[in-house]
Amino acid sequence: MRRLPVYFLVDVSESMVGQPIEQVQDGMRTIIQSLRVDPYALETVWVSIIAFAGKARCLVPLTELYKFYPPVFPIGGGTSLARGLEMLMDDIDRNVQKTTREIKGDWKPIIFIFTDGNPTDDCTAAFRRWNEKYRSHCNLVAVSIGDNVNVLTLAQITDEILLLKETDTESFSKFFKWVTASIANTSVSVAEQDGDGLKLAPTAGINLDKVDAEEIRREGRGKETGAHQADDNYVVIHGRCCNTKSHYLVKYVRAELLNRRLPEGAKYGILDAYPIDGESYEQLSSGESAQINSSLLRGTSSCPCCGNELSVVTCGNCGRLMCAAFEVSNKCPWCGEEGTLSSGGGSFDLGRGLG
Ligand SMILES: [Zn+2]
Ligand SMILES: [Zn+2]
Repeated sequence: MRRLPVYFLVDVSESMVGQPIEQVQDGMRTIIQSLRVDPYALETVWVSIIAFAGKARCLVPLTELYKFYPPVFPIGGGTSLARGLEMLMDDIDRNVQKTTREIKGDWKPIIFIFTDGNPTDDCTAAFRRWNEKYRSHCNLVAVSIGDNVNVLTLAQITDEILLLKETDTESFSKFFKWVTASIANTSVSVAEQDGDGLKLAPTAGINLDKVDAEEIRREGRGKETGAHQADDNYVVIHGRCCNTKSHYLVKYVRAELLNRRLPEGAKYGILDAYPIDGESYEQLSSGESAQINSSLLRGTSSCPCCGNELSVVTCGNCGRLMCAAFEVSNKCPWCGEEGTLSSGGGSFDLGRGLG
């Protein structure tokens, strides 16, 4: 039986924390549910999910639809597209059956990349490997979630680039229906022996713009951006709850992207704080971080782990972020120092993730 391998290479960097990753997680569930009741897909489609942040991790190895169990998506620090792509290529080498003289191998794998930011690592070697050995044997669709992505990067590995500009629930839901329909269409076409080209579903009525990759490359020649830069649209800070010691991320968004006004001097306003799995975060982070001065940030929220009034407090001893309540002694979950919160101001530098 020739299989149709479908890979999802999903950006789980810090900027995806909160609604975006929840929407991707729900979306993956609906894709699987819908494909399972499609007789053609059920027969041929195998699905794998690879997550990448500062490091990559295979969340689900290539699996038959009826055995597939949708995973919980972790969050990590950094956006190492190169590591994600390398893991994908290694997996293709190991698990996709090539056509030989004796056997007809699997159909051309379909790969969907979902990303909301720009790589924080150097992709040169991974892109070269991809373009030389894999590109012509795979159908790669790169989807930019929101419009922060430098499409020139994606244009170096595929001609199929799509922008999902609106990221509200309805747009996401339509988008995932489109992904499902595209996979289903392709599974019909391979079943009917109509070659193994990708059969994307029509995008009418969906907030999905096709990018002219060739034009992007022509215009962008020589303008390829360097890596190792923090994503400027978001500031995400890693904190820990002083009561439960659990981990959370506080997400700030660039003023222009917020629909409220910030006071003079502030560059970022708070979106919210989100609990994360600390162990996964550690494993999926590159370990690199940048600095941000607190004077550029506005707003705090309550602790998403214990409900303390404040999630944005820095420890006077180790400088790391923790939650705290007023007028009680708060013990730093990072270094163990105890202190009572005063309402003193002043600015300080905070370690931020690279997004
Ligand atoms: Zn707390
Ligand atoms: Zn401390």
